[in-house]
Amino acid sequence: MGVQTIGMLGGMSWESSAEYYRLANELVRGRLGGLHSARLIMHSVDFAEIEQMQADARWDDAGRLLAQAARGVELAGADLLLLCTNTMHKVADAVQAAVDIPLIHLGDTTADAVNRDGLTRVGLLGTAFTMEQDFYRDRLEQHGLTVLVPDRRDRAEVHRVIYEELCLGIVKDSSRAVYQEVIARFDGAEGIILGCTEIELLIGPDDCPLPVFPTTRLHVEAAVDHALG
Ligand code: GLU
Repeated sequence: MGVQTIGMLGGMSWESSAEYYRLANELVRGRLGGLHSARLIMHSVDFAEIEQMQADARWDDAGRLLAQAARGVELAGADLLLLCTNTMHKVADAVQAAVDIPLIHLGDTTADAVNRDGLTRVGLLGTAFTMEQDFYRDRLEQHGLTVLVPDRRDRAEVHRVIYEELCLGIVKDSSRAVYQEVIARFDGAEGIILGCTEIELLIGPDDCPLPVFPTTRLHVEAAVDHALG
């Protein structure tokens, strides 16, 4: 089989989807050289609509919307699918059920990276949905990880920075400092999962004394490995 086409469900937010697009192309060029770039189809949604569904807990509606988008990406010729957001993996099953191509699950690619590094106890940063509900932590725990989350006040602030700053392309030193304080308060974490696709716009390996697991980069790496065989 030749090089496969990567399908992406993006726009959640587009600030991180732009990173998905850039990273996929950089990785393919790195692997194949020259003018090679990624074969890629993205369906980019209006995030305002998705965010409203999240706020109203209308997850079934969001699942249907993303399932329909996934079918379009499959019909357009994608061989595999990425849901380019940790949070919306809450409806990953509905998306996978709508298509025959494989959905590469962000929880799996993240946990695989933690396991490759031989760590088990990790701090999780993400939206309140990702940190507080079961869907994401359970997936990580199925891979043998112990997942720590910040306390209530810290969770609220981490969540606020995602929606009020990072998803709008605002990257502030003061918010980086807040995240660093939250990271320092994890009790016995061996590594930190940047479990929201925008967080790596704010926090890099040099900003954290522990190993960080950037979910966007890890997700794209897995997809490119899959696509190039
Ligand atoms: N991109 C984010 C994530 O990875 C948050 C935006 C969303 O709610 O989809 O969770």
